[in-house]
Amino acid sequence: MYYYSDFYRILNSLWFIFLSFWKRFQFTHLIIKIQNKPQNMPLNFELNEDQKMLQESVKEFTERHVAPTVFERDNSKEFPHDLVTQLGEMGMMGIYHDPGFGGSGFDTVSFCLAIEEIARWDASLALTVASHTSLGTGHISIAGSDDQKKKYMPDLCAATRLAGWCLTEPGSGSDASGMKTTAVKNGDHYLLNGSKIFITQGSVADVYVVLAKTDPDLGTKGISAFIVEADWEGVKPGAPMHKLGMNSSNTTEVVFENVEVPVENLLGEEGMGFVDTMKVLDGGRVGIAALSVGVARGALEESLKYSMERKQFGKPIGNFQHIESKLVDMATSVEAARLLTLKAATLKDNGKSYTKEASMAKLFASELSVQASLDAIQIHGGYGYTKEYHVERFLRDAKLLTIGEGTSEIQRLIIARELKKSFI
Ligand SMILES: Cc1cc2nc3c(=O)[nH]c(=O)nc-3n(C[C@H](O)[C@H](O)[C@H](O)COP(=O)(O)OP(=O)(O)OC[C@H]3O[C@@H](n4cnc5c(N)ncnc54)[C@H](O)[C@@H]3O)c2cc1C
Repeated sequence: MYYYSDFYRILNSLWFIFLSFWKRFQFTHLIIKIQNKPQNMPLNFELNEDQKMLQESVKEFTERHVAPTVFERDNSKEFPHDLVTQLGEMGMMGIYHDPGFGGSGFDTVSFCLAIEEIARWDASLALTVASHTSLGTGHISIAGSDDQKKKYMPDLCAATRLAGWCLTEPGSGSDASGMKTTAVKNGDHYLLNGSKIFITQGSVADVYVVLAKTDPDLGTKGISAFIVEADWEGVKPGAPMHKLGMNSSNTTEVVFENVEVPVENLLGEEGMGFVDTMKVLDGGRVGIAALSVGVARGALEESLKYSMERKQFGKPIGNFQHIESKLVDMATSVEAARLLTLKAATLKDNGKSYTKEASMAKLFASELSVQASLDAIQIHGGYGYTKEYHVERFLRDAKLLTIGEGTSEIQRLIIARELKKSFI
Protein backbone atom coordinates (compact mmCIF):
# COMPACT_ATOMS: atom_id res chain seq x y z
CA MET A 1 0.00 0.00 0.00
CA TYR A 2 2.84 2.36 0.96
CA TYR A 3 4.72 1.65 -2.31
CA TYR A 4 1.56 2.08 -4.35
CA SER A 5 0.81 5.68 -3.09
CA ASP A 6 4.51 6.61 -3.45
CA PHE A 7 4.36 5.59 -7.08
CA TYR A 8 1.37 7.90 -7.64
CA ARG A 9 3.08 10.77 -5.83
CA ILE A 10 6.09 10.44 -8.15
CA LEU A 11 3.83 10.24 -11.19
CA ASN A 12 1.99 13.34 -10.03
CA SER A 13 5.22 15.31 -9.57
CA LEU A 14 6.43 14.27 -13.02
CA TRP A 15 3.13 15.45 -14.51
CA PHE A 16 3.47 18.85 -12.82
CA ILE A 17 7.06 19.19 -14.00
CA PHE A 18 5.94 18.38 -17.54
CA LEU A 19 3.08 20.89 -17.32
CA SER A 20 5.31 23.65 -16.03
CA PHE A 21 7.82 23.05 -18.89
CA TRP A 22 5.00 22.99 -21.43
CA LYS A 23 3.56 26.27 -20.14
CA ARG A 24 7.04 27.86 -20.17
CA PHE A 25 7.55 26.62 -23.73
CA GLN A 26 4.21 28.03 -24.83
CA PHE A 27 4.93 31.39 -23.18
CA THR A 28 8.43 31.62 -24.74
CA HIS A 29 6.94 30.70 -28.10
CA LEU A 30 4.36 33.50 -27.74
CA ILE A 31 7.04 36.06 -26.83
CA ILE A 32 9.15 35.08 -29.84
CA LYS A 33 6.05 35.35 -32.05
CA ILE A 34 5.25 38.83 -30.73
CA GLN A 35 8.88 39.99 -31.02
CA ASN A 36 9.01 38.87 -34.62
CA LYS A 37 5.77 40.58 -35.53
CA PRO A 38 5.55 43.79 -33.50
CA GLN A 39 3.30 45.37 -36.17
CA ASN A 40 0.63 42.78 -35.40
CA MET A 41 0.30 43.69 -31.75
CA PRO A 42 -3.46 43.73 -31.14
CA LEU A 43 -3.35 46.88 -29.02
CA ASN A 44 -1.83 49.81 -30.86
CA PHE A 45 -2.60 53.28 -29.56
CA GLU A 46 -0.86 55.04 -32.48
CA LEU A 47 -2.98 56.73 -35.13
CA ASN A 48 -1.93 55.95 -38.69
CA GLU A 49 -0.62 58.66 -41.04
CA ASP A 50 -4.03 59.23 -42.72
CA GLN A 51 -5.75 59.61 -39.36
CA LYS A 52 -3.09 62.03 -38.09
CA MET A 53 -3.30 64.15 -41.25
CA LEU A 54 -7.07 64.31 -41.09
CA GLN A 55 -7.02 65.20 -37.39
CA GLU A 56 -4.51 67.98 -38.05
CA SER A 57 -6.45 69.45 -40.98
CA VAL A 58 -9.78 69.49 -39.08
CA LYS A 59 -8.04 71.04 -36.05
CA GLU A 60 -6.54 73.77 -38.24
CA PHE A 61 -9.88 74.42 -39.98
CA THR A 62 -11.78 74.56 -36.68
CA GLU A 63 -9.32 76.87 -34.97
CA ARG A 64 -9.25 79.21 -37.96
CA HIS A 65 -12.89 79.22 -39.10
CA VAL A 66 -15.08 77.82 -36.32
CA ALA A 67 -13.66 78.97 -32.98
CA PRO A 68 -13.56 82.74 -33.71
CA THR A 69 -17.29 82.91 -34.50
CA VAL A 70 -18.74 80.41 -32.04
CA PHE A 71 -20.08 83.00 -29.52
CA GLU A 72 -21.81 84.81 -32.39
CA ARG A 73 -23.53 81.63 -33.59
CA ASP A 74 -24.60 80.66 -30.07
CA ASN A 75 -26.23 84.09 -29.68
CA SER A 76 -27.81 84.38 -33.13
CA LYS A 77 -28.89 80.69 -33.14
CA GLU A 78 -28.49 80.75 -36.91
CA PHE A 79 -27.69 77.60 -38.83
CA PRO A 80 -24.15 77.94 -40.28
CA HIS A 81 -24.78 77.14 -43.95
CA ASP A 82 -21.38 78.58 -44.94
CA LEU A 83 -19.38 76.36 -42.56
CA VAL A 84 -21.37 73.28 -43.55
CA THR A 85 -20.66 74.02 -47.23
CA GLN A 86 -16.95 74.33 -46.47
CA LEU A 87 -16.97 71.07 -44.50
CA GLY A 88 -18.75 69.44 -47.44
CA GLU A 89 -16.03 70.67 -49.80
CA MET A 90 -13.41 69.19 -47.45
CA GLY A 91 -15.16 65.79 -47.62
CA MET A 92 -16.17 65.91 -43.93
CA MET A 93 -19.91 65.43 -44.52
CA GLY A 94 -19.46 61.95 -45.95
CA ILE A 95 -16.24 61.17 -44.19
CA TYR A 96 -16.59 57.40 -43.73
CA HIS A 97 -18.96 56.69 -46.57
CA ASP A 98 -18.12 54.65 -49.65
CA PRO A 99 -16.05 56.65 -52.18
CA GLY A 100 -18.02 54.79 -54.88
CA PHE A 101 -21.05 56.85 -53.80
CA GLY A 102 -19.31 60.17 -53.14
CA GLY A 103 -17.97 59.43 -49.65
CA SER A 104 -14.42 60.14 -48.50
CA GLY A 105 -13.66 56.53 -47.53
CA PHE A 106 -12.04 57.25 -44.16
CA ASP A 107 -12.65 54.90 -41.23
CA THR A 108 -14.87 55.48 -38.20
CA VAL A 109 -11.82 56.27 -36.05
CA SER A 110 -11.08 59.21 -38.39
CA PHE A 111 -14.71 60.30 -38.15
CA CYS A 112 -14.41 60.34 -34.33
CA LEU A 113 -11.20 62.36 -34.49
CA ALA A 114 -12.88 64.92 -36.77
CA ILE A 115 -16.01 65.17 -34.60
CA GLU A 116 -13.88 65.61 -31.46
CA GLU A 117 -11.95 68.47 -33.07
CA ILE A 118 -15.11 70.28 -34.19
CA ALA A 119 -16.89 69.71 -30.85
CA ARG A 120 -13.87 71.07 -28.97
CA TRP A 121 -15.08 74.50 -30.10
CA ASP A 122 -18.60 74.15 -31.45
CA ALA A 123 -20.79 71.25 -30.33
CA SER A 124 -23.73 72.51 -32.43
CA LEU A 125 -21.68 72.25 -35.62
CA ALA A 126 -20.35 68.85 -34.57
CA LEU A 127 -23.94 67.68 -34.00
CA THR A 128 -24.86 68.83 -37.51
CA VAL A 129 -21.93 66.90 -39.02
CA ALA A 130 -22.45 63.79 -36.86
CA SER A 131 -26.22 63.53 -37.35
CA HIS A 132 -26.07 64.24 -41.09
CA THR A 133 -23.32 61.64 -41.58
CA SER A 134 -24.47 58.87 -39.22
CA LEU A 135 -28.26 59.16 -39.13
CA GLY A 136 -29.84 60.36 -42.39
CA THR A 137 -26.97 59.58 -44.78
CA GLY A 138 -25.93 56.65 -42.58
CA HIS A 139 -29.33 54.96 -42.91
CA ILE A 140 -29.22 55.25 -46.73
CA SER A 141 -25.67 53.90 -46.70
CA ILE A 142 -26.66 50.91 -44.50
CA ALA A 143 -29.98 49.96 -46.09
CA GLY A 144 -30.15 51.68 -49.48
CA SER A 145 -30.12 49.95 -52.86
CA ASP A 146 -27.37 50.87 -55.31
CA ASP A 147 -29.87 53.02 -57.23
CA GLN A 148 -30.89 54.91 -54.08
CA LYS A 149 -27.26 55.40 -53.10
CA LYS A 150 -26.38 56.66 -56.59
CA LYS A 151 -29.28 59.08 -56.47
CA TYR A 152 -28.81 60.50 -52.96
CA MET A 153 -25.38 59.79 -51.47
CA PRO A 154 -23.09 61.96 -53.67
CA ASP A 155 -25.06 65.17 -52.93
CA LEU A 156 -25.38 64.28 -49.25
CA CYS A 157 -21.67 63.50 -48.91
CA ALA A 158 -20.81 66.80 -50.60
CA ALA A 159 -23.37 68.59 -48.37
CA THR A 160 -25.01 70.19 -51.39
CA ARG A 161 -28.07 68.53 -49.85
CA LEU A 162 -28.57 67.90 -46.12
CA ALA A 163 -30.18 64.93 -44.42
CA GLY A 164 -32.60 64.71 -41.49
CA TRP A 165 -33.54 61.47 -39.72
CA CYS A 166 -37.11 61.23 -38.44
CA LEU A 167 -37.69 58.63 -35.73
CA THR A 168 -38.93 60.44 -32.61
CA GLU A 169 -42.56 61.50 -32.29
CA PRO A 170 -44.40 63.62 -29.72
CA GLY A 171 -45.70 60.42 -28.08
CA SER A 172 -42.75 58.07 -28.66
CA GLY A 173 -39.12 58.74 -27.81
CA SER A 174 -37.21 56.07 -25.90
CA ASP A 175 -39.83 53.56 -26.98
CA ALA A 176 -39.63 54.28 -30.69
CA SER A 177 -41.79 51.24 -31.46
CA GLY A 178 -44.76 53.22 -30.14
CA MET A 179 -44.70 55.50 -33.18
CA LYS A 180 -48.00 56.54 -34.78
CA THR A 181 -46.75 57.60 -38.22
CA THR A 182 -48.14 55.32 -40.91
CA ALA A 183 -47.22 54.51 -44.50
CA VAL A 184 -50.03 52.79 -46.35
CA LYS A 185 -49.24 51.16 -49.69
CA ASN A 186 -51.44 52.42 -52.48
CA GLY A 187 -50.40 51.20 -55.95
CA ASP A 188 -47.06 52.72 -56.93
CA HIS A 189 -46.67 54.77 -53.76
CA TYR A 190 -47.05 54.78 -49.97
CA LEU A 191 -49.23 57.41 -48.34
CA LEU A 192 -47.26 58.84 -45.42
CA ASN A 193 -49.00 60.50 -42.47
CA GLY A 194 -47.62 61.50 -39.10
CA SER A 195 -45.67 63.95 -37.04
CA LYS A 196 -42.01 63.76 -36.00
CA ILE A 197 -40.38 65.92 -33.35
CA PHE A 198 -36.88 67.07 -32.30
CA ILE A 199 -35.56 66.48 -35.82
CA THR A 200 -31.99 67.69 -36.28
CA GLN A 201 -31.75 69.56 -39.63
CA GLY A 202 -35.58 69.51 -39.47
CA SER A 203 -36.09 72.69 -41.51
CA VAL A 204 -32.76 72.83 -43.37
CA ALA A 205 -32.72 69.25 -44.68
CA ASP A 206 -33.37 68.48 -48.34
CA VAL A 207 -33.85 64.76 -47.74
CA TYR A 208 -35.37 62.90 -44.78
CA VAL A 209 -35.26 59.30 -43.77
CA VAL A 210 -38.64 58.69 -42.11
CA LEU A 211 -39.63 55.68 -39.99
CA ALA A 212 -43.28 54.70 -40.24
CA LYS A 213 -45.58 51.78 -39.55
CA THR A 214 -46.41 49.80 -42.67
CA ASP A 215 -48.18 47.13 -40.62
CA PRO A 216 -49.26 48.37 -37.16
CA ASP A 217 -50.22 44.81 -36.09
CA LEU A 218 -46.66 43.50 -36.39
CA GLY A 219 -45.00 45.71 -33.74
CA THR A 220 -41.36 46.44 -34.51
CA LYS A 221 -41.55 44.07 -37.51
CA GLY A 222 -44.17 46.36 -39.03
CA ILE A 223 -41.90 49.41 -39.17
CA SER A 224 -40.29 50.53 -42.45
CA ALA A 225 -38.01 53.36 -43.57
CA PHE A 226 -38.56 55.77 -46.45
CA ILE A 227 -36.50 58.39 -48.24
CA VAL A 228 -38.62 61.53 -48.44
CA GLU A 229 -37.64 64.75 -50.22
CA ALA A 230 -38.31 68.00 -48.40
CA ASP A 231 -39.98 69.73 -51.35
CA TRP A 232 -42.64 67.04 -51.86
CA GLU A 233 -46.21 68.05 -51.28
CA GLY A 234 -47.38 67.51 -47.72
CA VAL A 235 -43.93 67.76 -46.06
CA LYS A 236 -44.19 70.50 -43.45
CA PRO A 237 -41.17 71.37 -41.28
CA GLY A 238 -41.91 73.51 -38.24
CA ALA A 239 -40.06 76.51 -36.84
CA PRO A 240 -36.76 75.95 -34.96
CA MET A 241 -37.43 74.83 -31.38
CA HIS A 242 -36.22 76.96 -28.45
CA LYS A 243 -33.62 74.88 -26.65
CA LEU A 244 -31.28 75.03 -23.66
CA GLY A 245 -28.23 74.67 -25.90
CA MET A 246 -26.97 73.38 -29.25
CA ASN A 247 -28.27 76.72 -30.44
CA SER A 248 -26.99 76.75 -34.01
CA SER A 249 -27.99 73.15 -34.65
CA ASN A 250 -31.38 73.19 -36.34
CA THR A 251 -34.11 71.25 -34.45
CA THR A 252 -37.74 71.26 -35.56
CA GLU A 253 -40.92 69.29 -35.80
CA VAL A 254 -41.66 67.80 -39.24
CA VAL A 255 -45.22 66.92 -40.21
CA PHE A 256 -46.04 64.56 -43.08
CA GLU A 257 -49.55 65.02 -44.41
CA ASN A 258 -50.69 62.63 -47.14
CA VAL A 259 -47.21 62.58 -48.64
CA GLU A 260 -47.01 60.29 -51.67
CA VAL A 261 -43.75 58.37 -51.38
CA PRO A 262 -42.89 56.36 -54.53
CA VAL A 263 -42.39 52.63 -53.81
CA GLU A 264 -38.80 52.91 -55.03
CA ASN A 265 -38.14 55.17 -52.02
CA LEU A 266 -38.83 52.38 -49.54
CA LEU A 267 -35.42 52.14 -47.80
CA GLY A 268 -34.39 48.54 -47.18
CA GLU A 269 -36.98 45.80 -46.96
CA GLU A 270 -40.53 46.47 -45.80
CA GLY A 271 -40.71 45.63 -42.09
CA MET A 272 -36.94 45.91 -41.58
CA GLY A 273 -36.92 49.61 -40.70
CA PHE A 274 -36.62 49.03 -36.96
CA VAL A 275 -33.77 46.53 -37.30
CA ASP A 276 -31.87 48.95 -39.55
CA THR A 277 -32.65 51.79 -37.11
CA MET A 278 -30.84 49.90 -34.33
CA LYS A 279 -27.76 49.62 -36.60
CA VAL A 280 -27.98 53.32 -37.46
CA LEU A 281 -28.18 54.21 -33.76
CA ASP A 282 -25.15 52.06 -32.88
CA GLY A 283 -23.10 54.09 -35.36
CA GLY A 284 -24.70 57.36 -34.27
CA ARG A 285 -23.81 56.72 -30.64
CA VAL A 286 -20.12 56.42 -31.47
CA GLY A 287 -20.39 59.88 -33.05
CA ILE A 288 -22.16 61.32 -29.98
CA ALA A 289 -19.45 59.78 -27.78
CA ALA A 290 -16.76 61.51 -29.87
CA LEU A 291 -18.73 64.75 -29.67
CA SER A 292 -18.87 64.40 -25.89
CA VAL A 293 -15.11 63.82 -25.72
CA GLY A 294 -14.65 67.05 -27.70
CA VAL A 295 -16.82 69.07 -25.29
CA ALA A 296 -15.12 67.56 -22.22
CA ARG A 297 -11.69 68.26 -23.72
CA GLY A 298 -12.78 71.84 -24.36
CA ALA A 299 -13.83 72.16 -20.71
CA LEU A 300 -10.45 70.78 -19.61
CA GLU A 301 -8.34 72.96 -21.92
CA GLU A 302 -10.23 76.15 -21.07
CA SER A 303 -9.94 75.35 -17.36
CA LEU A 304 -6.22 74.63 -17.59
CA LYS A 305 -5.59 77.93 -19.36
CA TYR A 306 -7.75 79.92 -16.96
CA SER A 307 -6.32 78.32 -13.83
CA MET A 308 -2.78 79.26 -14.87
CA GLU A 309 -3.78 82.88 -15.62
CA ARG A 310 -6.16 83.64 -12.75
CA LYS A 311 -4.40 84.60 -9.51
CA GLN A 312 -5.86 84.58 -6.00
CA PHE A 313 -3.98 84.76 -2.69
CA GLY A 314 -0.92 85.78 -4.71
CA LYS A 315 -0.66 82.70 -6.90
CA PRO A 316 -2.35 81.03 -9.89
CA ILE A 317 -5.48 79.17 -8.76
CA GLY A 318 -4.14 76.15 -10.68
CA ASN A 319 -1.61 75.73 -7.87
CA PHE A 320 -4.33 75.09 -5.28
CA GLN A 321 -4.80 71.40 -4.60
CA HIS A 322 -8.60 71.46 -4.95
CA ILE A 323 -8.32 72.93 -8.44
CA GLU A 324 -5.51 70.52 -9.36
CA SER A 325 -7.69 67.58 -8.33
CA LYS A 326 -10.48 68.73 -10.61
CA LEU A 327 -8.07 69.15 -13.52
CA VAL A 328 -6.53 65.73 -12.92
CA ASP A 329 -9.91 64.00 -12.75
CA MET A 330 -11.08 65.77 -15.89
CA ALA A 331 -7.93 64.86 -17.83
CA THR A 332 -8.05 61.22 -16.73
CA SER A 333 -11.73 60.88 -17.62
CA VAL A 334 -11.30 62.55 -21.01
CA GLU A 335 -8.58 60.02 -21.82
CA ALA A 336 -10.80 57.13 -20.66
CA ALA A 337 -13.78 58.41 -22.67
CA ARG A 338 -11.64 58.77 -25.79
CA LEU A 339 -10.33 55.22 -25.42
CA LEU A 340 -13.86 53.82 -25.04
CA THR A 341 -14.96 55.79 -28.09
CA LEU A 342 -12.06 54.74 -30.29
CA LYS A 343 -12.49 51.12 -29.18
CA ALA A 344 -16.13 51.15 -30.31
CA ALA A 345 -15.07 52.85 -33.57
CA THR A 346 -12.34 50.25 -34.16
CA LEU A 347 -14.78 47.38 -33.58
CA LYS A 348 -17.15 48.96 -36.10
CA ASP A 349 -14.31 49.41 -38.62
CA ASN A 350 -13.39 45.74 -38.20
CA GLY A 351 -16.96 44.58 -38.79
CA LYS A 352 -17.29 43.27 -35.22
CA SER A 353 -20.31 43.65 -32.95
CA TYR A 354 -20.06 46.95 -31.07
CA THR A 355 -23.53 47.63 -29.65
CA LYS A 356 -22.40 47.34 -26.01
CA GLU A 357 -19.19 49.30 -26.60
CA ALA A 358 -21.03 52.11 -28.45
CA SER A 359 -23.49 52.44 -25.56
CA MET A 360 -20.70 52.34 -22.96
CA ALA A 361 -18.76 55.03 -24.83
CA LYS A 362 -21.86 57.20 -25.27
CA LEU A 363 -22.95 56.79 -21.63
CA PHE A 364 -19.54 57.47 -20.11
CA ALA A 365 -18.49 60.28 -22.45
CA SER A 366 -21.80 62.16 -22.42
CA GLU A 367 -22.12 62.07 -18.62
CA LEU A 368 -18.48 63.19 -18.44
CA SER A 369 -19.14 66.12 -20.78
CA VAL A 370 -21.76 67.43 -18.34
CA GLN A 371 -19.58 66.90 -15.26
CA ALA A 372 -16.48 68.36 -16.92
CA SER A 373 -18.46 71.44 -17.98
CA LEU A 374 -19.76 71.89 -14.42
CA ASP A 375 -16.23 71.57 -13.05
CA ALA A 376 -14.98 74.03 -15.66
CA ILE A 377 -17.59 76.59 -14.56
CA GLN A 378 -16.53 76.08 -10.94
CA ILE A 379 -12.88 76.62 -11.85
CA HIS A 380 -13.82 79.83 -13.70
CA GLY A 381 -15.74 81.06 -10.62
CA GLY A 382 -18.18 83.94 -11.30
CA TYR A 383 -16.76 84.45 -14.80
CA GLY A 384 -17.70 80.88 -15.66
CA TYR A 385 -21.32 81.76 -15.04
CA THR A 386 -21.23 84.51 -17.68
CA LYS A 387 -21.44 84.34 -21.45
CA GLU A 388 -17.96 85.89 -21.75
CA TYR A 389 -16.37 82.46 -21.44
CA HIS A 390 -16.96 79.23 -23.35
CA VAL A 391 -17.68 77.04 -20.37
CA GLU A 392 -21.34 77.94 -19.71
CA ARG A 393 -22.09 77.08 -23.36
CA PHE A 394 -20.30 73.76 -22.92
CA LEU A 395 -22.70 72.87 -20.11
CA ARG A 396 -25.81 73.85 -22.09
CA ASP A 397 -24.61 71.91 -25.14
CA ALA A 398 -23.38 68.89 -23.17
CA LYS A 399 -26.75 68.17 -21.56
CA LEU A 400 -28.21 67.16 -24.94
CA LEU A 401 -25.56 64.47 -25.27
CA THR A 402 -27.06 62.51 -22.36
CA ILE A 403 -30.49 62.60 -24.07
CA GLY A 404 -30.20 62.43 -27.88
CA GLU A 405 -29.81 59.07 -29.67
CA GLY A 406 -30.93 57.29 -26.51
CA THR A 407 -30.85 58.71 -23.00
CA SER A 408 -28.30 57.57 -20.41
CA GLU A 409 -31.02 55.39 -18.87
CA ILE A 410 -31.59 53.68 -22.22
CA GLN A 411 -27.81 53.17 -22.68
CA ARG A 412 -27.79 51.42 -19.29
CA LEU A 413 -30.67 49.17 -20.41
CA ILE A 414 -28.75 48.26 -23.58
CA ILE A 415 -25.50 47.56 -21.72
CA ALA A 416 -27.33 45.41 -19.14
CA ARG A 417 -29.06 43.45 -21.92
CA GLU A 418 -25.75 42.89 -23.73
CA LEU A 419 -24.00 41.83 -20.49
CA LYS A 420 -26.69 39.27 -19.75
CA LYS A 421 -26.44 37.82 -23.28
CA SER A 422 -23.15 36.17 -22.40
CA PHE A 423 -24.96 34.07 -19.75
CA ILE A 424 -27.79 32.90 -21.99
C1 LIG B 1 -31.72 68.63 -29.62
C2 LIG B 1 -32.31 67.29 -29.95
C3 LIG B 1 -32.05 66.73 -31.18
C4 LIG B 1 -32.65 65.50 -31.51
N1 LIG B 1 -32.46 64.98 -32.79
C5 LIG B 1 -33.22 63.94 -33.18
C6 LIG B 1 -33.23 63.51 -34.56
O1 LIG B 1 -32.50 64.06 -35.40
N2 LIG B 1 -34.05 62.50 -34.91
C7 LIG B 1 -34.86 61.87 -34.03
O2 LIG B 1 -35.58 60.98 -34.42
N3 LIG B 1 -34.87 62.22 -32.71
C8 LIG B 1 -34.08 63.25 -32.28
N4 LIG B 1 -34.10 63.65 -30.95
C9 LIG B 1 -34.96 62.94 -30.02
C10 LIG B 1 -34.21 62.17 -28.96
O3 LIG B 1 -33.59 61.05 -29.52
C11 LIG B 1 -35.21 61.84 -27.85
O4 LIG B 1 -35.48 63.05 -27.18
C12 LIG B 1 -34.69 60.79 -26.88
O5 LIG B 1 -34.60 59.55 -27.50
C13 LIG B 1 -35.61 60.67 -25.64
O6 LIG B 1 -36.94 60.55 -25.98
P1 LIG B 1 -38.02 61.50 -25.26
O7 LIG B 1 -37.52 62.91 -25.37
O8 LIG B 1 -39.35 61.22 -25.85
O9 LIG B 1 -37.98 61.10 -23.76
P2 LIG B 1 -38.82 59.86 -23.05
O10 LIG B 1 -38.62 58.62 -23.83
O11 LIG B 1 -40.20 60.31 -22.79
O12 LIG B 1 -38.01 59.75 -21.69
C14 LIG B 1 -38.23 60.61 -20.57
C15 LIG B 1 -37.38 60.10 -19.42
O13 LIG B 1 -37.79 58.76 -19.07
C16 LIG B 1 -36.68 57.91 -19.12
N5 LIG B 1 -37.07 56.57 -19.58
C17 LIG B 1 -37.82 56.24 -20.66
N6 LIG B 1 -37.95 54.93 -20.77
C18 LIG B 1 -37.25 54.39 -19.74
C19 LIG B 1 -36.98 53.05 -19.30
N7 LIG B 1 -37.46 52.00 -19.96
N8 LIG B 1 -36.23 52.88 -18.20
C20 LIG B 1 -35.71 53.94 -17.53
N9 LIG B 1 -35.93 55.22 -17.89
C21 LIG B 1 -36.69 55.44 -18.99
C22 LIG B 1 -35.71 58.56 -20.11
O14 LIG B 1 -34.38 58.11 -19.91
C23 LIG B 1 -35.90 60.02 -19.76
O15 LIG B 1 -35.13 60.35 -18.65
C24 LIG B 1 -33.47 64.84 -30.58
C25 LIG B 1 -33.68 65.39 -29.31
C26 LIG B 1 -33.14 66.61 -29.01
C27 LIG B 1 -33.44 67.22 -27.65
